[in-house]
Amino acid sequence: ATTGHNNTVSSICCYCGTGCGVQVTPLGDGTVRVIGDDSHPANFGRLCSKGRTLGDTTGRPGARLLRPTLRLAKDAPAQAVSWDSALATVSDKLAAAIREHGPDSVAFYLSGQLLTEDYYLFNKLARGLVGSNNIDTNSRLCMSSAVTGYKLTLGADAPPACYDDLELAGCVFIAGANMAYAHPVLFRRLEEAKAANPDMKIIVADPRRTDTASIADLYLPVLPGTDVALFHAMLNVMIWEELIDRDYIAQHTEGFAALRQRLREFTPRAASELCGVHEDDIVTAARWFASSPATLSCYTMGLNQYSNGSDKNAALIHLHLATGHIGKPGAGPFSLTGQPNAMGGREVGGLATVLPGHRDPANAAHRAEVAALWQVPALPAQPGLSAVEMFEAAAEGKIKVLWIACTNPAQSLPDQALVRAALERVDCVIVQEAFAGSETLAYADIVLPAATWPEKDGTVTNSERRISRVRAALPAPGEAREDWRIVAAVAQRLAATIAPQHVAKFAFADGGSVFAEHAATTAGRDLDYSALSYAILDVHGPQQWPFDGKVGRSRLYGDGVFPTASGRAQFLDVAWRTPADKVSAHFPIRLTTGRLRDHWHSMSRTALVPTLTRHVEEPALVMHPRDMQRHKLQAGELVKVRNKRGAIYLPVQADDSLRAGVAFIPMHWGGAALGGQGINALTSRALDPQSKQPELKLAAVSVEPA
Ligand code: SF4
Repeated sequence: ATTGHNNTVSSICCYCGTGCGVQVTPLGDGTVRVIGDDSHPANFGRLCSKGRTLGDTTGRPGARLLRPTLRLAKDAPAQAVSWDSALATVSDKLAAAIREHGPDSVAFYLSGQLLTEDYYLFNKLARGLVGSNNIDTNSRLCMSSAVTGYKLTLGADAPPACYDDLELAGCVFIAGANMAYAHPVLFRRLEEAKAANPDMKIIVADPRRTDTASIADLYLPVLPGTDVALFHAMLNVMIWEELIDRDYIAQHTEGFAALRQRLREFTPRAASELCGVHEDDIVTAARWFASSPATLSCYTMGLNQYSNGSDKNAALIHLHLATGHIGKPGAGPFSLTGQPNAMGGREVGGLATVLPGHRDPANAAHRAEVAALWQVPALPAQPGLSAVEMFEAAAEGKIKVLWIACTNPAQSLPDQALVRAALERVDCVIVQEAFAGSETLAYADIVLPAATWPEKDGTVTNSERRISRVRAALPAPGEAREDWRIVAAVAQRLAATIAPQHVAKFAFADGGSVFAEHAATTAGRDLDYSALSYAILDVHGPQQWPFDGKVGRSRLYGDGVFPTASGRAQFLDVAWRTPADKVSAHFPIRLTTGRLRDHWHSMSRTALVPTLTRHVEEPALVMHPRDMQRHKLQAGELVKVRNKRGAIYLPVQADDSLRAGVAFIPMHWGGAALGGQGINALTSRALDPQSKQPELKLAAVSVEPA
């Protein structure tokens, strides 16, 4: 745990899914010093601006929730209470809701920033004790289309590539990802790889010419939401020019003939009309992708956060299956996880649609396996509500107790008008949170103060399936407690009330024993790391899954065998669908959103660091200069951005790195900075029908002087 000098601990940066290793040294004044961990295989000592300044976010008790609070009525002030009283009240509320309205009147909305141990116990509480599958997470907003894409094509939710592939690829296709801002250390590795190998081709497809595009040999300014047309046309070219790997397709895949029929209509010219990319560039992209000795695709929210996100994921994975660029060094479709532990959450079953060990709650045999592991009679068969569905049900009065942990839905979910109405309608909103500035706290009936980085101990899994230890370097301030301990304490009280025989099932001495129980649930599954333990992680360092007891597997599917029923990967007959939100005469601008380099989510932590806030001090609408001219707008002018769901006011700035007709607002600001609501006042609840991921990346809007 410690590195040998002072009381420095090895841990993991708490921001993005890169999962960089850090060395954290307490300085004795309630703060820590943070440097990169040279030995961690994600970053080898590198850190980005956010990771480097993590120490500046510590020792800020004024920014933190320090005591549990309770309000006795919606219009009553919150009052500080003891933990005993808070835990008893949570347990009583849960028991009453289950008794009077049934288990599905309870819902849990969690976060990809929770540690695996926290996530696991929430899941066991929801499904094993409360008896509901209503447990979902903000990972639904982030990675669920990637999960669906992998499962439908490759058979399992398992990214097949690893970070070393950034250095081994001959061609890197970055689609819908601004790695320079969202995964800066991976981007730095890619920059260095390209400098060392000038023959490496980099293709970037994005409606914005971002900093990531600065290293592109070919930039494709794809219209928001039209990537399926681009990917289909690339495959069309590969087929036409005999660039596909016929042997690989014949030996390891199914479904190519049907897809091939569909692709006939996606000529480069026809696709160019749909996706806005010049046909010659589509041809070049296809040739580079197919002809490289090894091609790696890196993608994230620009594919996932659309009502056709699963289709986009599948269409991109098709390119790898058709060319055999998978399962070998430098190749594969590689989804980059947004949050630090969205992968771990998927492993424990932290989504309504997943059970522990990548099992399926719709599968009776899988439910029986988990029930046996947990020694409970049965798991609920009723499907659970995904994130947006959960808040829709709450708005209809169907959710009586909503427990929100480590996330800020009053800013981050789409269609904020509905979300806030839902939060007002729920009888009891429990908010388990570390920071005092979260918008969601305004709706809390019970507040449970949580420990956060660097006060917590546990594990996370990064984008390349690598599990690392997170270690505490400071005590939690005030009365804040580790998340898993809060869950275990409530679960034991609730069990004592409704099922006393289960009290002992939530009695854990430490995080290591929670991890051990979780790891056992993966035995025999695609991700099997049942042989992994804190002891192994402490001695041998971070490990990838699947883990055989000695080593983890860096790449998957090298043998061409896939975890599908037939053992073959699947081509899907993906039809062309436009995004749900359509531009019109009233709402002619395609508004998109994304991260800035130096902020994280709703800024509870990064706003504490002056050097980070200086990068971009205020939110603004960014538009192409021609659009500003057309709308008679001046740079710096206050504008009203509006659609049928809401309106926000902010200054406008010109930026010709955007396509004309496309505008951008960063995702980070809400609350006071934008009159109470951020960009999600405008985004839509339209869901991908397969992944249930909402279309956060696109809203049709109008822009006018305020
Ligand atoms: Fe942290 Fe991500 Fe930056 Fe690494 S790249 S230091 S994990 S924010």
